[in-house]
Amino acid sequence: MLPDAVHEKAATDFNCLANRQQMQRNIMTHLYQEYDPNRRFADTTDGVAVPMLFVSPTQYIQSPGAIHRLGLFLADLVGPEARVGVLITPGRRRAVFAAVADSVGEANLTMTDATFAGESTRSEVERVTAVFREQSVNIVIGIGGGKCLDTARMAANRLGARAVTIPTTASTDAPTAAVSVLYREDGVFDRVEYSRTNPLLVVADETILAAAPPRYLVAGMGDAFSTYYEARCCMQNPAARTGRGGRPTMGALAIARQCREQLLAHGVAALQELSAGCPGVAFSQIVEANILLSGLGFESGGLAAAHAVAQGLTACADLHRKFLHGELVAVGVMAQLMLEDRMDEAAAAREFFRAVGLPTHLGELDFDPGTQAGELDEIITGSLRVPFIQAEPMPVSAELLRAALLRAGTL
Ligand SMILES: [Zn+2]
Repeated sequence: MLPDAVHEKAATDFNCLANRQQMQRNIMTHLYQEYDPNRRFADTTDGVAVPMLFVSPTQYIQSPGAIHRLGLFLADLVGPEARVGVLITPGRRRAVFAAVADSVGEANLTMTDATFAGESTRSEVERVTAVFREQSVNIVIGIGGGKCLDTARMAANRLGARAVTIPTTASTDAPTAAVSVLYREDGVFDRVEYSRTNPLLVVADETILAAAPPRYLVAGMGDAFSTYYEARCCMQNPAARTGRGGRPTMGALAIARQCREQLLAHGVAALQELSAGCPGVAFSQIVEANILLSGLGFESGGLAAAHAVAQGLTACADLHRKFLHGELVAVGVMAQLMLEDRMDEAAAAREFFRAVGLPTHLGELDFDPGTQAGELDEIITGSLRVPFIQAEPMPVSAELLRAALLRAGTL
């Protein structure tokens, strides 16, 4: 070939490749933006019944030191050609990155990594996606708190890759799920985004989780304790749908019930184990309740007033800043039980929350309904806007919700 022809051929190849890559990007962009499971499952326009739907990660592994065997666990699930991208928070990088790199290396898997910048914003998701696309990553591992895991999951979604989540606190039930939250640059909630599949693997390393401040485990208990009450509400109301638009299954309800039993049986003991510096059986049971049972229970069982109120409470900037999600959910649980007039269950919930150090009403969030009436209105409006509230058996008006929130403080 003459030099010019060589150049021309190279340019054509390059353009073809660039076009192909661009096309691939367009397809993936189209796919993730278009994916709304509610359209698939909740659509009854052609007379089809709404199906029951159960979703879960492919594998959940929990043990002390599990991260040291991450590579072996992964190698069982993926082929030798897998290319792993690790997204990790700066704090966790110092503590666990070497173990992750060693373990993945021992399994002979190719690995690259990126440091999470701190917020799950569109720009951060795009940045991480670009870094991993460059390396042809097809397994994205998130190691850190909720926002880092969400960013890893959304990057995986854009790449058409599978996600692996390794939570470093047991503070929420998000690691097993296929739903992520995007925030705006100013930290305000933007929207939720659904992935097509749940994580390939969730690794709950009890050693890592026990090293987090106990407040995170307590908040996780608040998030997990709501799961049964919300799933039951959805099960009993034929009009209710899960977050993905399906009907809940009895399996999800049974898991949610077990979640509550485990919290009641082991919650206090788990905290005692932590404060004694020797996490044992009770701690292990609470990690499972907070991450696995609550995760499966909420995603396939559905949410109701407790989470609508938790989200509504974030309308007050102070509450949003000062309290963890699970702490707000605990107040939401009390409001839900008041709405449903389940006084015996409310008393039991209150006793549990008190025992582990969770708030039970607005006053315990340092919120004074008397002097903060305007903000209370915003909280109520915000809660009523969240679709989960419609799972309740009765139409919830502003007056009903206000009465429920205030009544929780009089128990
Ligand atoms: Zn939650």
